[in-house]
Amino acid sequence: MTATEERTNLDTALAQARERYVAQRPVGAAMHADASEVMPGGNTRTVLYHPPFPLRIARGAAQRVVDVDGHEYVDMLGEYTAGLYGHSQHSILDAVRAALDDGISLAGHNVYEARLARALVDRFPALELVRFTNSGTEANLMAISLARVVTGRPGIAVARGGYHGGLLYFGGGGSPVNAPYEAVVFDYNDVEGARAAIRENADRLAAVVVEPVLGSGGVIPATPEFLAALREESQAHGVLLILDEVMTSRLSPQGAAPLFGVQPDLITLGKYLGGGLSFGAFGGRADLMAHFDPSQPGALPHAGTFNNNVLSMAAGLAGLTEVLDDERLHALNARGDRLREALNAVMAPHGWTATGMGSMVGFHPVPGPVRSPADLATADDCQRELLFLALLERGFYAAPRGFIALSIEVTDDDVDGFVAAVAEVLG
Ligand code: PMP
Repeated sequence: MTATEERTNLDTALAQARERYVAQRPVGAAMHADASEVMPGGNTRTVLYHPPFPLRIARGAAQRVVDVDGHEYVDMLGEYTAGLYGHSQHSILDAVRAALDDGISLAGHNVYEARLARALVDRFPALELVRFTNSGTEANLMAISLARVVTGRPGIAVARGGYHGGLLYFGGGGSPVNAPYEAVVFDYNDVEGARAAIRENADRLAAVVVEPVLGSGGVIPATPEFLAALREESQAHGVLLILDEVMTSRLSPQGAAPLFGVQPDLITLGKYLGGGLSFGAFGGRADLMAHFDPSQPGALPHAGTFNNNVLSMAAGLAGLTEVLDDERLHALNARGDRLREALNAVMAPHGWTATGMGSMVGFHPVPGPVRSPADLATADDCQRELLFLALLERGFYAAPRGFIALSIEVTDDDVDGFVAAVAEVLG
């Protein structure tokens, strides 16, 4: 088959898959049309949009979700890592209900926040003191702002393709809605390039901000040498190292940093650590975080009406203390490793590659190896969308861009079924 014929076949297959998607979802189509009258594109979170109109989910339980037209899926997406506990963990639901029984929006310190803080400080070695926010985005904004204050320097150094929140995205030349921090960009896993970027711009850099596994940028793990080089070079020049563990904190009971042998100055957290509710946190070295101590003269402000909202605090605490023991977390990440290996076995002959680490899995229409987003440059969006739609038809929900974050509810049978579905579609 010529390249042109292959293209035409793909385009035809995609048009047909979209038609079937639409035909099977009259309720979803109507709700999307209705939503579009009052929200731009019927959407309030860009990542959830996909053509012809996004999946609209009515409910979920354990590892399953059901769309508004009644189709059921195994949820392999796991709310982009925030859904680690699945959709109906009893301990978490009970904790939220108990918190609700005591009233909402209390405008005071409550009985949960310090307990959750202690659970986090006990867990993550880099975390000596911690503060809560409403999202991972806000956590990164606060951590960067703190670094700017303590260093007296304005800029940040980040990886190309790094995602640190809606206002901190550094793929494709950066987002036009980014916060106006001066950003020096280096390539992920390029040890010498990153060293040079830090060294040459050190007098303008407050912090290096980096994910141990590039999440949104393609689920690409760092090499230990790369993170070690960032640590060494930043330290040598008085630049802080902020490790964005919003996604990767799930990779071991202590997060990803110890897996790579790196000790950051600050880390940022989010996602599942709020038990599945809105959440973010930042923290690290006590001498840095002490700047926020409001009992001290000249303390930095840190505001946020819902920073300590009782629902997120109670849900996060229940998750860490009643659900997520080390054994479960190891099993989750081992299952992810097995999934990635099985996916690579069925995908490689078709020119696809599965990436990631532990329970974070990516899959891409490129032959690999994938060491930085540049290795994904030839990935064909049409192939991605075809696989996404075909997997929906077979009862599996993964992100359109090829992303999986397993929840602890996903079983070995689910994983086997997913791999079989991928093999069938690509085969
Ligand atoms: N950092 C990373 C690595 C993320 O993946 C995300 C969210 N996908 C964020 C920060 C932002 O978190 P939030 O969506 O809670 O603002």
